[in-house]
Amino acid sequence: MSALLRVENLVKHFPIRRHLFGRQTAVVHAVDGLNFELDAGDTMALVGESGCGKSTVGRLVLRLLDATAGKVWFDGEDLMTLAPERMRARRRELQMIFQDPYSSLNPRMTVEQTLAEPLALHGLARGRERERAAELLNLVGLAPQYLQRYPHEFSGGQRQRIGIARALAVEPRLIVCDEPVSALDVSIQAQVVNLLQDLQRRLGLAYVFIAHDLAVVKHIATHVAVMYLGQIVEYADKRSLFAAPRHPYTQALLSAIPIAEPGLKREQILLQGDVPNPIDPPSGCRFRTRCPYARERCAQEVPELRAIEGHSVACHYWQEIMAPQGVVERVVVNERLVRLQSAFRGG
Ligand code: SF4
Repeated sequence: MSALLRVENLVKHFPIRRHLFGRQTAVVHAVDGLNFELDAGDTMALVGESGCGKSTVGRLVLRLLDATAGKVWFDGEDLMTLAPERMRARRRELQMIFQDPYSSLNPRMTVEQTLAEPLALHGLARGRERERAAELLNLVGLAPQYLQRYPHEFSGGQRQRIGIARALAVEPRLIVCDEPVSALDVSIQAQVVNLLQDLQRRLGLAYVFIAHDLAVVKHIATHVAVMYLGQIVEYADKRSLFAAPRHPYTQALLSAIPIAEPGLKREQILLQGDVPNPIDPPSGCRFRTRCPYARERCAQEVPELRAIEGHSVACHYWQEIMAPQGVVERVVVNERLVRLQSAFRGG
């Protein structure tokens, strides 16, 4: 079976000009040669520090941005070359859930108007818009009597549920979730993530889940792509990636997740320095300026993303780099993580 979504050599460069119509003076390398696949019913998490290009990938997949190069195959069609008419039809199958439930809803529209708008846009549920809006509310765990209320009358979690209902109105097959829970309180985060998983099971949805919180990713993802400066440095199914990260950057990110057991913590790998400027990324391996294992070759040769023991890793020396050894010291437990994990368990 071929993948629902296949991204091939995707590139997005943003030109920088001194004036609106001036000549180009530099280029931001936001996304540089991305490849991944996603099947129906699966969740691909894109993780990395802010500015690594993950949100740009989400917008490219939905063709809210045009790519500089590369292809985005959705159900056998390259979205990057689709004629506007055909793309309009495809838009129905590709939706987005935004990070901020406060600003993603129109404050002047009732819930019913908010949910009826995409139906009207795509000519769906004609003559039964109210009934469909009530069904959608029910689908996301809200009562139909909320239809006449305005966004300011809801909590953050309820507003995000309305945002999800709006995305579901047009019966999509793929949803890009751009940090959908990061603006919510921890216990509400778990409820929304559980709702997204439940909807995925019931409706066969595929998610591209953009996040920086690896505790959330560990719960929802089936596959994880770790991004650094516009490139994927490691890609694997969730279980393999969390059990045995191969790339030094993945190891550093995972080492920062506290363990939710009283008094225990992993040995944390602290990265030196800041993420380099994407206008002038380092030669060779882009991670080399912060990598504790960097050698001469790393500055000269770009490491390819190679399939290795169930992972794909972009590092010349992955075989010599061991994952940090489990739990090593006693420290104060991370309260936030304990709350998050017990909320996921329904405790
Ligand atoms: Fe570090 Fe070199 Fe591997 Fe890059 S290629 S991650 S700099 S060891």
